[in-house]
Amino acid sequence: MSDCVFCMVANGEIPATIVFENETVIAFEDIAPQAPAHTLIIPRVHYAHVGDDVPDDVLLALMKAVPEVAAAKGVTESGYRVIMNTGRDGGQTVNHLHLHVIGGRRMAESMVTFTEGT
Ligand code: AMP
Ligand code: ZN
Repeated sequence: MSDCVFCMVANGEIPATIVFENETVIAFEDIAPQAPAHTLIIPRVHYAHVGDDVPDDVLLALMKAVPEVAAAKGVTESGYRVIMNTGRDGGQTVNHLHLHVIGGRRMAESMVTFTEGT
């Protein structure tokens, strides 16, 4: 998708701070971090969202990248939250499948949001 910002990151057309990558996925720092650690994981190939006929190996690679990112960001022991916003009501703003891995501070305990907890 030529007009997709995450495809541009995957293609190297837009600079990004790479945290982890392999042949299937790329993890890079969110441009507007909501926590001290805030990394995005995307498949190299464009899928709009998790319901977009995503192959099993791609879904597996996305999840397998999560602990790699956590280790790279130093939050393996302290913990982190993994979020996949999907569609309008899910708050998805970039229509290229991605996971958020956020950590480095306490999250709100009662809701799955970016809201800062105590
Ligand atoms: P979502 O709201 O789940 O679609 O999340 C999209 C995320 O992409 C937001 O947290 C943005 O800050 C982030 N973002 C948008 N453009 C870029 C970019 N060029 N590089 C890194 N992160 C980006
Ligand atoms: Zn894309």
